Amino acid sequence: MSLLIGSHVSFNKDTQLIGSVEESLKYGANTFMFYTGAPQNTYRCNINDDITNKAKKIMQENNIDINKVIVHAPYIINPANSKNRDFNINFLKEEINRVEKLGVKLLVLHPGSHVGLGEDAGISNIIDCLNSSLTDKNVTICIETMAGKGTELGSNFDQIKKIINGVNLKDKIGVCMDTCHLNDSGYDLSNFDKILDEFDSKIGLNYLKAIHINDSKNIILSHKDRHENIGYGTIGFDNLINIIYNKRLEGIPKILETPYIEAKAPYKYEIDMIKNKKLNKNLIQDVLN
Ligand code: FE
Ligand code: FE
Ligand code: ZN
Repeated sequence: MSLLIGSHVSFNKDTQLIGSVEESLKYGANTFMFYTGAPQNTYRCNINDDITNKAKKIMQENNIDINKVIVHAPYIINPANSKNRDFNINFLKEEINRVEKLGVKLLVLHPGSHVGLGEDAGISNIIDCLNSSLTDKNVTICIETMAGKGTELGSNFDQIKKIINGVNLKDKIGVCMDTCHLNDSGYDLSNFDKILDEFDSKIGLNYLKAIHINDSKNIILSHKDRHENIGYGTIGFDNLINIIYNKRLEGIPKILETPYIEAKAPYKYEIDMIKNKKLNKNLIQDVLN
């Protein structure tokens, strides 16, 4: 089966999409994910069409399908809290415009934390935010499954289902699974087909648009959300390989968001071991050399 594998890469105002594509190619990736600016703030540069067009040419030459490339919305916006409602909606609308200008189709969004408002109020805030931001633009917002840290919502498929049920533009909403978050929220990743069965019956596999592939530093149901390098955490190499190569996930982009090792990206070596289906026991040494 053809593998769609990549990682989180950088995007800066000078090289924009060209920088992201070139970084991905260095890792041996055929897809990628980036923030259009710093994840912890909402300052964003203007998209330069000249750079975008050159980047698209490089992508075509290297068989990277822009339809599978992902933008991640900054995690400081909190759709579950109505306190900054107008700001959230305005930012998301602008982000959808930027994503469309880049030709990217998938925008991953954390559903946010209800900060004491309660699950029902938080979910209705998320639905309101999505219905007020989504347009007929060709961009799908993918709700990420969360670890359930603090008052985080989206930590089980029932909550995700409620969110999707409330969204009017059903063809503009999707889901991004995150293996570390699923583990930390209580899903047993040693039987991923069972997880996919539950997802399919509650939400529908057609809504699954992306998967973040991360190992976890913590045990199942820890509600922690700390990512670990592939094969070095509690999920383990074999379980992650079984997920990555699961036939039901063919065509879905798989993105590594594993931690840097002493400020160096591990992705080239992690992608290598995924392609070889063999754990690299010298990952740390290889990354540092
Ligand atoms: Fe995320
Ligand atoms: Fe993630
Ligand atoms: Zn995470």
